[in-house]
Amino acid sequence: MPLPKRRHSKARGRKRRTHWKLSALNLAPCPQCRQPKFPHRVCPVCGYYNGKQVMEIQIKEKKKRKDKS
Ligand SMILES: [Zn+2]
Repeated sequence: MPLPKRRHSKARGRKRRTHWKLSALNLAPCPQCRQPKFPHRVCPVCGYYNGKQVMEIQIKEKKKRKDKS
């Protein structure tokens, strides 16, 4: 197993990781309903993918009813 010859300070490691950040999530508008959705995923609002409905959207409708009451 390779081992480091000299100990690195905490600051050295922390300085290196200042560039280590999360990038913003990529969202593209759904061609069916114009709502933002993740690319290469079924739209959670209308359940469409590649111009076809592939998922039922009953869960979303139930959530909307709960918000109103
Ligand atoms: Zn959609």
